[in-house]
Amino acid sequence: MGGVFGVVSKNDCVLDLYFGTDYHSHLGTSRGGMAVWTGRSFSRSIHNIENVQFRSKFEVDLSGMSGHMGIGCISDNEPQPLLVRSHLGHYAITTVGRINNIDDIVDHCFRNNLIHFLEMSRGEINPTEVVSALIDQESSIKDGILYAQQTIDGSCTLLVLTDKGIYAARDRFGRTPLIVGRKEGAYCVSFESCAFTNLGYHPFYELGPGEIVLITPDGIEQVSPPGDKMKICSFLWVYFGYPSSTYEGVNVEVMRNRNGAIMARKDKVEVDFVSGIPDSGVAHAIGYSNEAKIPYVRPFIKYNPTWSRSFIPQTQEVRQLIAKMKLMPIIDLIKGKRLLFCDDSIVRGTQMKETVQFLYSYNAREVHIRSACPPLLFTCKYLNFSRARSDMDLVARRAIRKLEGKDDANLEQYCDHRTEKHRCMVEYIGKQLGFTSLKYQALPDMLDATGLPHEKLCTYCWNGRE
Ligand code: SF4
Repeated sequence: MGGVFGVVSKNDCVLDLYFGTDYHSHLGTSRGGMAVWTGRSFSRSIHNIENVQFRSKFEVDLSGMSGHMGIGCISDNEPQPLLVRSHLGHYAITTVGRINNIDDIVDHCFRNNLIHFLEMSRGEINPTEVVSALIDQESSIKDGILYAQQTIDGSCTLLVLTDKGIYAARDRFGRTPLIVGRKEGAYCVSFESCAFTNLGYHPFYELGPGEIVLITPDGIEQVSPPGDKMKICSFLWVYFGYPSSTYEGVNVEVMRNRNGAIMARKDKVEVDFVSGIPDSGVAHAIGYSNEAKIPYVRPFIKYNPTWSRSFIPQTQEVRQLIAKMKLMPIIDLIKGKRLLFCDDSIVRGTQMKETVQFLYSYNAREVHIRSACPPLLFTCKYLNFSRARSDMDLVARRAIRKLEGKDDANLEQYCDHRTEKHRCMVEYIGKQLGFTSLKYQALPDMLDATGLPHEKLCTYCWNGRE
């Protein structure tokens, strides 16, 4: 994944840029970067944030940076922002998304006499550099962005900082959000609107799918209008969006509460307590608990003082060990109790299985699991959103393979929560993972919880529909 943030101000922008970018830290764990236009050139800093938080790494850079306009990013992959000098002048660029046809684009560039791209480690080409190469094939930044949007298979939301201002462009189908905030003397543009409030910005304008605007200290100007088709990622609300962010007018926490309440209305189970798997299961569970009138408790809590960051351990064993060490049980709330947990989703199932075994080892009487979204049947092909490497890593796909005895089963009926095949798959997963009972939120109910028209939401993860 990743997130982007930009500021255009009549005053120095660096502190706003620093904090605004930092408020995207939940979206990526690889690289952080900031680029500021000093009035004559760009000042830029990029750091590895795999093991250290963005703020600690960038604090030392602040005194050396000043300017009225800047862009920043948290990236799960490539170093950014990049500084570019081309026939379009000089600019800084940052992107979020995924380019599935990157090899074809690179070949096309070579055929058109673009001499080289810089390689990153592991031999990959920086996707943001590829986007800049596409932009540079046209005669203006606007036409270049439009060309990049048309050419990229996947998704791409981007910010381009020039000496005039920031060009902000949302992905062609709006898979990721982009919203402009305003305060006296300044504008910001952000993936996450949660970055606004503490910096004094108010939501001002949310870009539509494919829309491009130019933000200057004097205002914002539409450079290219939005398209008709929207397919914003539903997982923003269910899992990776920050609770205090709002997309398309719908707040993440409010959606999760509503989603949990819908699950509770359709559930009949007698339990002592409801709880959420930290962090993103919590708001779904609060909604469930309030609706079902069953007390919400925390049978385990995260040890935050030293585990606040998601480190990236190399092996599954170490990942599991860290996940276990992060959670501390409260035995009084577990022993002899019938517990119901809401989680945002069940991906591989490994983590959830361990969590449930952990609860049984402290003598929980029953452990019922409720997933806030339907079974995941497809890995994302629009964002670098890698909770599973391949479809067959997904617990639901492995269950189908067992039930059908083959990898290429017809998945249509498994996608539909009303079918017998779906019921068998859920029962199989629940048994395999050792739950007392398992239920998944139905897709139409999850979409209803957003309050948005269903056709505007991407649901590829659950039903494979593009
Ligand atoms: S496939 Fe899933 S994670 Fe990817 S954009 Fe669509 S809803 Fe989001």
